[in-house]
Amino acid sequence: DTIGDNFDRTAAARPDADALVDVPSGRRWTYGQLREDVDALALGLHAAGVVKGDRVGIWAPNLPEWTLVQFATAKLGAILVNINPAYRTHELEYVLNQAGISLLVAAPSFKTSDYEAMIKDVRPNCPALRQVILIGRPNWDELMADGRGGDRAELARLQAALSPDDPINIQYTSGTTGFPKGATLSHHNILNNGYFVGRLCGYTPDDRVCIPVPFYHCFGMVMGNLGCTTNGATMVIPGPGFDPKATLKAVAQERCTSLYGVPTMFIAELNDPDFDSYDLSSLRTGIMAGSPCPVEVMKQVVDRMGMTEVTICYGMTETSPVSTQTRADDSLELRVSTVGRVHPHVEVKIVDPETGLTLPRGEPGELCTRGYSVMLGYWEEPEKTAEAIDRARWMHTGDLGVMDGDGYVNITGRIKDMVIRGGENIYPREIEEFLYTHPDIVDAQVVGVPDERYGEELCAWVTLREGAPQLTAEALREFAAGKLAHYKIPRYVLAVDSFPMTVTGKVRKVEMRAKSVEMLD
Ligand code: ATP
Ligand code: MG
Repeated sequence: DTIGDNFDRTAAARPDADALVDVPSGRRWTYGQLREDVDALALGLHAAGVVKGDRVGIWAPNLPEWTLVQFATAKLGAILVNINPAYRTHELEYVLNQAGISLLVAAPSFKTSDYEAMIKDVRPNCPALRQVILIGRPNWDELMADGRGGDRAELARLQAALSPDDPINIQYTSGTTGFPKGATLSHHNILNNGYFVGRLCGYTPDDRVCIPVPFYHCFGMVMGNLGCTTNGATMVIPGPGFDPKATLKAVAQERCTSLYGVPTMFIAELNDPDFDSYDLSSLRTGIMAGSPCPVEVMKQVVDRMGMTEVTICYGMTETSPVSTQTRADDSLELRVSTVGRVHPHVEVKIVDPETGLTLPRGEPGELCTRGYSVMLGYWEEPEKTAEAIDRARWMHTGDLGVMDGDGYVNITGRIKDMVIRGGENIYPREIEEFLYTHPDIVDAQVVGVPDERYGEELCAWVTLREGAPQLTAEALREFAAGKLAHYKIPRYVLAVDSFPMTVTGKVRKVEMRAKSVEMLD
């Protein structure tokens, strides 16, 4: 299937079922109404000159128009380029030129960011950019009105000329370890992945999925939007950016059955002072992904949020994104200790990062994945593509993992985050899990800092419960004595209000390493 044909099939099967709800504005669409608007936008974009293979940029937070643009461009075969809502002029100009974007759809502004002014600034430097459409402004309404008067038969002809293997999307990675990379993905890549993610969550048309994760990222647009439309479920947008209260409110008000987030989002929701005032009894499932989930958090998601079937997904933008997922009937133990088993039609192997040879079950190494889900490549970066995907089409993830005898995978960290202290390999994840058992610690991250004697030393960044006494390195050493091997006890402790984050809610350890050095000076 192409994304457009698949969407039409879902809409035709249940035109009156809820498709999309935008909680802040109260706007809602049935599948029939959503199809009307998607078709109008597609025809409007076509009238504006957009054809198959053109790059259309979208620069906006989570608005329902984002979703309309996603499906409208897919119907035309235009390549949608997701632009990070946190970008400023320098990065915007880079991505507009790197992807050769000819038409940009943008929100006029978001929070303190004046997108309109930034676009004006960079426009003279972006020769490929012919047109800018601002959501909610007259040119958006005109485009929609043009499209409503358009020829639906023409749209059907355009759709029929597309192939599932065409590139349809350039999605940027989170930029956790450096500058984000643009993964080029096909209909086949992301449509299938969305479908299987939804299947493993057990979605039916009765499911209502709360999506507080950004659409600009694969978590929102593939696991969220495509996970819903391929299975007939309802997409619920709690707000343009992440806000714990707005998310809890959306779940309660819309009786959501599923909720998505990275661990830090669930932590914020669980720690909201009004948590108990929201009725979350409709929740059954959800997805936690993006970074390792502390056991304690997982327990609370099940016990206090009632997400008894919550699944853990592991993946990366370059692989559409999900490669492994826990199943609803996996034991809680497996759901807290692994990222599940390999997805349908995907292969996973663990290799020795030095030699590239496949390791026996139980031995940690670099996780590699292969299958329909591996991206076409990084957009116009053949060398980077060749570094990531080998000749046998295995994607080398840069993640450290181990697979047990039953095929359950555990991610132990990123190769780049591993700390080597005095010759010992230390996985920060293990130390972070331990720090969560401290009664005053709300959130914890561990990084390596340079050390003359040992090469690297561990530095723990912590956020503390309100009113908790200061946590010194000495106090932590006392707490850890007898529980952790001495070389795993962090030498330094930095108590902070928050960690440096990517827009997708991931902790930027690269930045933390650099900052640790400054702060410890
Ligand atoms: P960049 O590639 O730009 O440095 P990124 O790798 O964070 O950023 P994404 O593609 O958004 O960009 O994230 C994929 C990565 O997230 C994986 O390679 C892995 O390191 C991490 N990850 C995803 N899911 C999980 C999970 N369930 N547990 C642990 N880590 C995870
Ligand atoms: Mg990555």
